[in-house]
Amino acid sequence: MTKRRDFLKQSSLLSFGTLSAYATPALAKELLHFLPHATLFELPPLGYAYDSLEPFIDAQTMQIHHTKHHQAYVTKLNEAVAKDPALHHQSLEQLIRNSNSFPEASRAAIRNHGGGHWNHSFFWTLLQKGTQPGKVTTLAINNTFGSMEQFKVAFEKAALGLFGSGWTWLMKDASGKLTIISTPNQDNPLMDIAPQKGTPIIGIDVWEHAYYLKYQNKRADYVQAFWNVLNWNKVEEFMQK
Ligand code: MN
Repeated sequence: MTKRRDFLKQSSLLSFGTLSAYATPALAKELLHFLPHATLFELPPLGYAYDSLEPFIDAQTMQIHHTKHHQAYVTKLNEAVAKDPALHHQSLEQLIRNSNSFPEASRAAIRNHGGGHWNHSFFWTLLQKGTQPGKVTTLAINNTFGSMEQFKVAFEKAALGLFGSGWTWLMKDASGKLTIISTPNQDNPLMDIAPQKGTPIIGIDVWEHAYYLKYQNKRADYVQAFWNVLNWNKVEEFMQK
C-alpha cells in the first residue's frame, strides 16, 4: 500500500514537473488532466499570414515574434498558473488588472508573462496594411492633438524616447481623455500597478525583438513604418468602446 502510494506520488510529481517545464499548447490538454480546474492560456492565431505586413514588418520577424516570443510568455504564464491554485480560475484580464491581490510569489509572472500575453494578443489585432483612419478616430485625434500629423509626431517621440524595452500606447483614461504613454517591459495601462491607467487604443512593441532583424538599431524607421501597418479599422472599433 505504502509502495503504491509512493509510486503514485512520484509519478504525479514527475509528470507535473515535466509538464510545468514544457507547458506548450500541445501539452496544455495533458496538463489539464492533472489540473482539471485550471484555466490555461493558448497562443492565439494571428489571423493573417506572416508575410502580409511586408515590406514594413518582415515575415521572419513576425514568425519568430509570434511563435517564439509570444509563445514563451504563454508557456511561462501557464507554468505560473500550474504552480499557484489562486490563479486557476482567472481570465487574463482579471490577472493583470488585479495582480497585487494574488500571492506575492506569482506577481512577477503575472506582470511579465501575463502582460506579455495580453500585449502581444492586442498588438496582432492592430496590424493590417492599407487601412485609413475612421471618422470617430480622426475627430478624437484632431480634438486632442490638433491634427493627425501632430499626433504621429507625439507618438513617435514617445516611442523613441522610451529607454530600453517596452511599449508606447495611445490610451483612453477613465474620463475619456486620449493620452500617449509608455510603459516598461511588458507592463500596460490596464494593470493595477500602472502609474497611469487607461484602456489601450493603439500599442506599439518597441522591444528590439520587434524590429531588429530588419531595422537593426534604427528604431525610428520601424516606428515610422508602423503607420503603414496600423489597422485603423481596429483603432476605430476601440475608440468607440
Ligand atoms: Mn514583442
